[in-house]
Amino acid sequence: MRNWDDPITESLKQVEVDNNVKDIVEKDTNASDKNIKENEGLTGFEDIEKGANRIQVDDKAIINCRADLNQLIPFKYDWAWQKYLDGSANHWMPEEIPMHDDIKIWNDPKALTEDERKIVEVNLGFFSTADSLVANNLVLAVYKHITNPECRQYLLRQAFEEAIHTHAYTYCVQSLGLDEGKIFNMYREIPAVATKAEWALPFTQSLGDPTFRTGTKENNQRLLRDLIAFYVVFEGIFFYVGFTQILSMGRRNLLTGVAQQFQYILRDESMHMNFGIDVINQIKAENPELWTEQFQSEMIDLIKKGVDLETKYAYDTMPKPILGMNAELFEEYLKFIANRRLLQIDLPEQYPGAKNTFEWMSEIMDLKKEKNFFETRVTEYQTGGQLKFD
Ligand code: FE
Repeated sequence: MRNWDDPITESLKQVEVDNNVKDIVEKDTNASDKNIKENEGLTGFEDIEKGANRIQVDDKAIINCRADLNQLIPFKYDWAWQKYLDGSANHWMPEEIPMHDDIKIWNDPKALTEDERKIVEVNLGFFSTADSLVANNLVLAVYKHITNPECRQYLLRQAFEEAIHTHAYTYCVQSLGLDEGKIFNMYREIPAVATKAEWALPFTQSLGDPTFRTGTKENNQRLLRDLIAFYVVFEGIFFYVGFTQILSMGRRNLLTGVAQQFQYILRDESMHMNFGIDVINQIKAENPELWTEQFQSEMIDLIKKGVDLETKYAYDTMPKPILGMNAELFEEYLKFIANRRLLQIDLPEQYPGAKNTFEWMSEIMDLKKEKNFFETRVTEYQTGGQLKFD
């Protein structure tokens, strides 16, 4: 019978019984496997070290940490916790955004040109699968190797936000009555959409391999490379042509519901990217041996390749000018963005003098300024949040 006066001792006895099961499992773990384990970080699944000292801030490390990962406090990385709080304060759900006007516009054959409709479809096609790819990379590849509880707390928040984004694209597709099979399969059918997802996949594939472990210089660099590919290029460059195209429709009072969904997503994404950049810089600071000249030059090439692919996406989706934009403006804009991304991770600018051709995009990302962005009146959708839209 359970002793309710001393529940801890009672529950520890129960753990001892369960250890028999653990012994059986451990027989399958061979000795060489254990040797490799000494250099890698913990996962959070380790045995509970009864009577161990309290965790100190200096015990914590962003990768390959050997201190208990189940203790959030004391914080070492306040920036990670703050982003978790900011992300949570900006919580939103797709159904809270009115879509009635969008349905009317989409069903009116004269309201949109064929090119405008195509832009909406291709972007929903790209993003509906892209955010799933980001979520899978986070959950199946990155999370395990980031050995810090406050960063993991944000990663959990981010993973849910990626689910909300996929939900939002699905909600747009269903509200407008688009062909779901066509939209969701675009990343396997339309070259401009497929190439970006195809480029990103190998980075997450190697980390998702169950035998992959950090702890060696080469493998730590692989993790860093994946983080740069996903946070800086995928979320930080590949999302920007599509976001600008859709948000530009909203500015012209076309599909304001879809645009509003994208606006909220962009706000989340800009925080994801800034969190990723903080993680990347923290890994570099704690492991300077990874940031070799050769690795830096590989990362510059990686980012430049990302710019090339996204520029191609701009030309493929906008063969002629539309909504006051053209592909050349995007080419310049992507160079401007890439310069900023490069500087944020201490790499030199690669496109001297590139101009910000879409300054209004910066205003959307600046949370304090977005209040009057849309002329349409949007319901105040948050409870307990920090942001109000009216
Ligand atoms: Fe994201």
